[in-house]
Amino acid sequence: MTEETYKKLWRLKLHQLDLETYGFPRNHPNNPKRAVLGISQRPQPQQEPHESDSSDSEPEIIMDRCSRICTRCRILFKVDKEGRPKRQLCRYHPYHVPYKKKFRCCGRKKHAEEGPCKTARQHVHNQLAPEALENFKPTRDNLIKAKRIYALKCSHVYTEKGIEVASVSLVDAFCSVVYETKVRPESNILDYDTEISGLRRHDLANIQKTLQDVIEDLNALIGPKTILVGFRLQRDLTSLRMIHENIVEVTVLYPHKWAPRRTHSLYFLRRNFLSLENIRAPLKSREEAITAMKLALHRM
Ligand SMILES: [Zn+2]
Ligand SMILES: [Zn+2]
Repeated sequence: MTEETYKKLWRLKLHQLDLETYGFPRNHPNNPKRAVLGISQRPQPQQEPHESDSSDSEPEIIMDRCSRICTRCRILFKVDKEGRPKRQLCRYHPYHVPYKKKFRCCGRKKHAEEGPCKTARQHVHNQLAPEALENFKPTRDNLIKAKRIYALKCSHVYTEKGIEVASVSLVDAFCSVVYETKVRPESNILDYDTEISGLRRHDLANIQKTLQDVIEDLNALIGPKTILVGFRLQRDLTSLRMIHENIVEVTVLYPHKWAPRRTHSLYFLRRNFLSLENIRAPLKSREEAITAMKLALHRM
């Protein structure tokens, strides 16, 4: 990485106001350990629905303690006092295309008699409990002073708490892996969301690394001058309880031409801008981080 690359990428970073607009975790005005997401000012991005991206949608704060909205089928479902979902079958289409008459996954028409093509054992959600915004750490306090460029990507699984980080990858400007680990979620896993996360049961068996360990590791690598590149990085930073200033966000670099409230999927971007093959398998956190870095460098 040259000084020149750093300078060019620095010009692409989001401004302070954008960080708030796009829902990045920001310092709470009165509580330095707490974050705010600026949700009220954030456009509600809908992704370009070439591929499903259920758990990867934007986090919302839980408003009602006893119910949640299913990320997959959008039904309101009940949870117990601890927030655990009651077992209830979830029927959904994994590839949802809001403005098309047919679902891409199965070709069924909307409101077709057969209903959705996939059934899961229970509903899942990605809403955040208010306490998920506590204990945030601004990277400006970290000791690393060097000018670094990293792309960061997390994969998440559905747990009794909603979604939790299950793998993290950090790659440098040469797309070499600097840090990568699987993470043991704090609560029981309900669904590995394999279609999106690429993770299966055996991937997370015997993993001892906790989210807190990962946060400490990352804070030893990322400093106030580090440029972080990512694809929907606001969600990853929220999960990692990290407040960072220098963000290059791929969804902003490649806006949707005719629907500004939508964002292209990473699959669409890699196919159309990097001329990489159209893969049907889910990208894992490493491949997603590498793709995000390549897309950012491509835009310089
Ligand atoms: Zn379907
Ligand atoms: Zn559901």
